[in-house]
Amino acid sequence: TKDVDRYLKREVLGKGTYGVVYKAIDTKTGQTVAVKKIRLGKYGEGIDFTALREIKLLKELKDPNIIELIDAFPHKGSLHLVFEFMESDLEAVIRDRNIVLSPADIKSYLQMTLKGLAYCQQKWVLHRDMKPNNLLIGADGQLKLADFGLARIFGSPDRKFTHQVFARWYRAPELLFGARQYGSGVDVWGAACIFAELLLRRPFLQGSSDIDQLGKIFAAFGTPRPSQWPDMVFLPDYVEYQVVPAPPLRSLFPMASDDALDLLSKMFTYDPKARISAQQALEHRYFSSVPAPTKPALLPRPP
Ligand code: ADP
Repeated sequence: TKDVDRYLKREVLGKGTYGVVYKAIDTKTGQTVAVKKIRLGKYGEGIDFTALREIKLLKELKDPNIIELIDAFPHKGSLHLVFEFMESDLEAVIRDRNIVLSPADIKSYLQMTLKGLAYCQQKWVLHRDMKPNNLLIGADGQLKLADFGLARIFGSPDRKFTHQVFARWYRAPELLFGARQYGSGVDVWGAACIFAELLLRRPFLQGSSDIDQLGKIFAAFGTPRPSQWPDMVFLPDYVEYQVVPAPPLRSLFPMASDDALDLLSKMFTYDPKARISAQQALEHRYFSSVPAPTKPALLPRPP
């Protein structure tokens, strides 16, 4: 039988960046899955072999904190990507006013996010589209990064330039300055924005345009000095900004512990070469000091 017949389509789960996502049953395993249909360009039938090869690499990514790509096949001008089904996502958790997130809960969510990132960085795969609704939460409470690597393979239909792959609020300063070459630091910056959002319960740096996004970043951390970030002045969209001093980070996060603030500032380092890596972040004392991270099964979740 054909690949497509293995999955019994149920309801539409939503429309995403790349196309429609369906809930489905995998008849081979009985498992509930999410099938993402990605339209393949105007000339439908022609499957991009580079994309298929890269998709194959994504199937090799197996980690408790990465959404598993169960299957991938072309059908009628669309690429079907089959993922494990997830109950919820971190955005729903952050937005739910009935949910109280304790410092231990926040630590647990951040730890799972960084574990997923560290695994992929070790395999040289970037996420490039970190945002709370890409961090899915399973029935067992495990957080898993979704859409890994898709930004690189498919780009973004509504964004012209490949360096603008991020949801703006989570975009690293090197991307906002037009960097063409960048590394795993962009995902750490995104994770830092999500860490801040868990602490504040609202998006931290809400820019209304790319320029405004940089303005929001500079207002929070001070305008970067070339001595702090020597490569900055060579980036394509670099312009000199008026120097504004940084307020104490403590004043922006009055509720955070000293350890949390220290880690946050290391993740929000301007120079991507000096920014802490996901693996180093996991080794930071924030994770070994009390309180211990909440066990995933005990984390608060939306009904
Ligand atoms: P976006 O491109 O905006 O991140 P997606 O294409 O990832 O959106 O997803 C579209 C919708 O499908 C979202 O509402 C999301 O909740 C749902 N969805 C995506 N992946 C899964 C999954 N593995 N399990 C359950 N729901 C999912």
